[in-house]
Amino acid sequence: MNTYVVGHQNPDTDSICAAITYANLKQELGKEVEAIRIGKVNSETEFVLDKFDIEAPRLVEEVSADDEIILVDHNEKSQAIAGIEEAEVKEIIDHHRIGDIETGNPIYFRNEPVGSTCTVIAKLYQENDVELTDDMAGLLLSAILSDTVIFRSPTCTVTDEKIANRLAEQLGVEIEEYGKKLFKAGSVVNKLSPRELVQNDYKEYEFAGETIGVGQIEVMDVAEVEGIKDEIITASEKLVAENDYKFLILMVTDILAEGSLLLFTPGAEKTVGEAFDVEVDRSEVYLDGVLSRKKQIIPVLSDYLTT
Ligand code: MG
Ligand code: MG
Ligand code: MG
Repeated sequence: MNTYVVGHQNPDTDSICAAITYANLKQELGKEVEAIRIGKVNSETEFVLDKFDIEAPRLVEEVSADDEIILVDHNEKSQAIAGIEEAEVKEIIDHHRIGDIETGNPIYFRNEPVGSTCTVIAKLYQENDVELTDDMAGLLLSAILSDTVIFRSPTCTVTDEKIANRLAEQLGVEIEEYGKKLFKAGSVVNKLSPRELVQNDYKEYEFAGETIGVGQIEVMDVAEVEGIKDEIITASEKLVAENDYKFLILMVTDILAEGSLLLFTPGAEKTVGEAFDVEVDRSEVYLDGVLSRKKQIIPVLSDYLTT
């Protein structure tokens, strides 16, 4: 009988770090458990594991009736490991809405509306009087900063900040500086082609019978795209031609500066300039305070293009 601690599919830093740290806590308490993962370690998480010199959990793609599992950072079947119906769910540690996982027996189910599963796990170390080694503290801190976007996400709570500050103090880490490094390591900018960047998080909209495309990427510093702006525009122009769009905009959203650089295809200058009431420089404009496509970009374009 194996007992696995496992996060969700397409794992993020919170899922991987929660599996490792919670398995470590259980081991400290005398239980035999193993942290596993059900997908590729992303580049942000890789950076964290390197930094604190911890190996990635073993890849296990499916569990069976012989296995017990502890779920971290999820509680929905659709996000869970294959074979979950067969295995016995022993515990759930999470910070999401309650999903659809059913168990045959009473289990330990700890869910808190905080910014990160690792915030809950840090509390569990404390509640169980288990001291946090520096490497485990590092994983917890990294996951909290990742999930809360360095305290900027609306999901971040006072508890997340308090715990992260305490962990940072233990490690002698400066939060803002470390968080930036973390996000830079996880940035998609250096990993995707210009076309993939545009399409990574992409939506089409129809206004007055014409279609426009608006993509968005999040970065820690808009300077990250400085050297590839022309390539992004070229890739965008191709997409415009292929799909018969009126124009295409890529929002490069700077989470730290809290603004977005709009890169757009030729022909959009007038619309963007007049709709947002800004001076447009060639094929780009920076909009301070604009972070949301849904709330701050689309309604403005809709107003302008349909009236
Ligand atoms: Mg997650
Ligand atoms: Mg999470
Ligand atoms: Mg995340």
